[in-house]
Amino acid sequence: CYQSQHTCATPCNGPEKWYHANKDCEGRAQSPINIVHRKTLPDDRLTPFQFRKYQDSFSGLIKNNGHSVQVNVPHQPYVIGGDLETPYKVVQFHLHWGKNGGPGSEHTIDGEQYPMELHIVHMNEEYSTLEDALKDPIGVAVLGFFYEESLSANRKYDPVVSALQRIMTTGANTTLVSVSLEQLIHPQHNLTNYYRYKGSLTTPSCTESVIWTVFEKPIPLSRDQVEQLINPTSCWPEVGEIRNVVFLLNPLKNYSDIGFTLHLLTLPLAVNNL
Ligand SMILES: [Zn+2]
Repeated sequence: CYQSQHTCATPCNGPEKWYHANKDCEGRAQSPINIVHRKTLPDDRLTPFQFRKYQDSFSGLIKNNGHSVQVNVPHQPYVIGGDLETPYKVVQFHLHWGKNGGPGSEHTIDGEQYPMELHIVHMNEEYSTLEDALKDPIGVAVLGFFYEESLSANRKYDPVVSALQRIMTTGANTTLVSVSLEQLIHPQHNLTNYYRYKGSLTTPSCTESVIWTVFEKPIPLSRDQVEQLINPTSCWPEVGEIRNVVFLLNPLKNYSDIGFTLHLLTLPLAVNNL
């Protein structure tokens, strides 16, 4: 079965077997990746994103599928800029976490894993379903955000934290009421530094149709909030275990080793490297 169909009672094959289900899973542009900061290059085509209608409130179904929670979003908010050729509209967002409060981000920076990672999935505005967008090699754009532990709570996350309290078991769902995408991320002016590469969905079908943007600045959450967000009944293996297996499967996955470049938008980061 696929990871998305995985339950505690019927565990799936891990990533090392995914290519049996879908040949794309042994492709050469598979996500997630480890980003090696010193091998990234600045690229002035990577202009700041503009987040349109991100401030609009919406209500959406939030579902716990055992290894992630997903919220489907009305397709009104969209992004432009960031070297995307057309506007990309929002489809859904979801969170990745680790086991028992351990690190759970999918992407890593210089081998370091963050506690959690948010993925806001967008598709080219010309498509009406994600399925259609995935047939286009640049049909999907995912914005990835790391979380870091902060001393004080991030009150903007209260609605998400309280909704997750109501869906602690795999398969449970509830309605997330009156949230906006804007309240989940940093203000636009703090999102100018990001990494860019061309990759894939991180679970089967593993389709290599994703323009990835991974923002440098993590979103703060208190330890309490991280613990409340993480589903204690989760039975999915740690992300670290999954990735290690994927790396074995596809040793070229670390892009910096094969001449791919990851790009940074602004010079301050390059200066920091000196
Ligand atoms: Zn994801």
